[in-house]
Amino acid sequence: MEREIHGRLVRGVEVGPETRCAHYDTDRDVVALRFACCEAYYPCFRCHEAAADHDTARLPVESDESAVLCGVCGAELTPREFVEGEHRCPECGVEFNPGCADHYELYFDFGE
Ligand SMILES: [Zn+2]
Ligand SMILES: [Zn+2]
Ligand SMILES: [Zn+2]
Repeated sequence: MEREIHGRLVRGVEVGPETRCAHYDTDRDVVALRFACCEAYYPCFRCHEAAADHDTARLPVESDESAVLCGVCGAELTPREFVEGEHRCPECGVEFNPGCADHYELYFDFGE
């Protein structure tokens, strides 16, 4: 399925109005991420697996393209802004799921 959130297309499984999905739906699961291979955002990598017909291509962490969408306010962050942030949105201050940090390498290419 896909849903428009803050004017951006978000694809995935059971995508909620603040970018939660079937896989991650706690209070803090309010970001969607964009991969280098896709124009759309996805709530998580498993949503990409389910909804896209190709392997993921990660954005380089140094990319200045927007890669993260805050589901609460619609702010868009670059990979660096997201990874180096304090697990919260710089615009609206909502707290993001700190567990996401365990998966950064699934979303961003750190060049290692
Ligand atoms: Zn893709
Ligand atoms: Zn998901
Ligand atoms: Zn926000």
